[in-house]
Amino acid sequence: MKRIYSCENHFLIINAKNIIDGLGIETFVKNEFATGAIGEISAFDCWPELWVVNDCDYDKAANAIELMTQPKSSTTWTCENCSEINEPSFELCWNCLHEH
Ligand SMILES: [Zn+2]
Repeated sequence: MKRIYSCENHFLIINAKNIIDGLGIETFVKNEFATGAIGEISAFDCWPELWVVNDCDYDKAANAIELMTQPKSSTTWTCENCSEINEPSFELCWNCLHEH
């Protein structure tokens, strides 16, 4: 298991989980209800965390997180293999690894 994403905003964690679940990747949220503990341990330790169950899914999930957290650019490109929208910084399609 690997931690893929941590954020103080619980909504963003759930949003990320929905996106990654949609890719068929198994995830779970840690510290989901830990906010009550702030004050005893550092606030950062209380942030909800999103974990992937299978390490082999990490790269794909990490790409999805990156897509989600990056500001939308007008120069995205569309994969000619799977029609997925990719960020300009990607040289390979995040979805199918087809070359740009
Ligand atoms: Zn593709």
